[in-house]
Amino acid sequence: MNIFCVGQNYAKHAKELGNEVPKDPIFFQKASSCLSTSDVIKIPRGREIHYELELVMIFGKSGKSIPKSEALNHISHWCLGLDLTDRERQNKRREKGLPWFDAKSFPGAAVITDRETVNWQKLEQDLWLTINGVEVQRGNVSNMVFDISTLISVLSEIVTFQDGDFLFTGTPSGVGPLHDGDELMLGLGDETKGSLHVTSS
Ligand code: ZN
Repeated sequence: MNIFCVGQNYAKHAKELGNEVPKDPIFFQKASSCLSTSDVIKIPRGREIHYELELVMIFGKSGKSIPKSEALNHISHWCLGLDLTDRERQNKRREKGLPWFDAKSFPGAAVITDRETVNWQKLEQDLWLTINGVEVQRGNVSNMVFDISTLISVLSEIVTFQDGDFLFTGTPSGVGPLHDGDELMLGLGDETKGSLHVTSS
């Protein structure tokens, strides 16, 4: 199983990190072992970890070199996810032009809610994240720099994706650090899809 991710796929988020809006999708991966369905987020000792709320696509069949027009047929399920990020470490690596793998793959760094059968109309609703009752992120697929069909098609030119692989589709603006004791709620439209508790180890 692979966890594919896209960086800077919402213009406002790219700008809040001081980046230009990309001309092509920026793909990276998280270690498959960091996938977490737990309702507890454990912050690694002494690190500052940022939340990134994302819409996550789950592949239902494998593919290579898929045209945009067929891309969505390869998705069977979706869920919400948190692409947890050690921002300080990521920035340090990025300054030197190095890969930021170690900022993205600590244990539990890919949080997902229960997977649901894909319903494209439903996914046109806003995704949102609250921390301690305050909304910190809100996004909508219509604000993506590269839409889901484009992401899948471009990804499929690089790799053969497989049944069961995940695609984190990027985070809207409003990212920030997590703190010991924080209570998170994730949702789509008027439905809450997950509630999580943060602890520091
Ligand atoms: Zn992300």
